[in-house]
Amino acid sequence: MDYNRSHVIRYHGYAIVGDKRSYPPNGQCELCGEKRRLVYHHWDNDNFKLGLWLCPHCHILAEKTEKGITSEKYLQLKAEVEAQEVRVSERIKV
Ligand SMILES: [Zn+2]
Repeated sequence: MDYNRSHVIRYHGYAIVGDKRSYPPNGQCELCGEKRRLVYHHWDNDNFKLGLWLCPHCHILAEKTEKGITSEKYLQLKAEVEAQEVRVSERIKV
């Protein structure tokens, strides 16, 4: 893992210096629209303009997505569990 990147993420909101995009004037998360204390998620240490103001939940989602854990994977797992559960309950009925 790139040390600089994890270092900056750990101290997000505190240690990041440079030119971020400006804080949303409506105070709303740019992903889900919730009004919470927002953190700045960025993905390029050479250009802090490349970032989004996100609520804590969406920030986690963004970090997971960067690591390749996508909502598609969640939905796939969910479908697998549901399919398995259907098979089990059908067996019980018989
Ligand atoms: Zn959000």
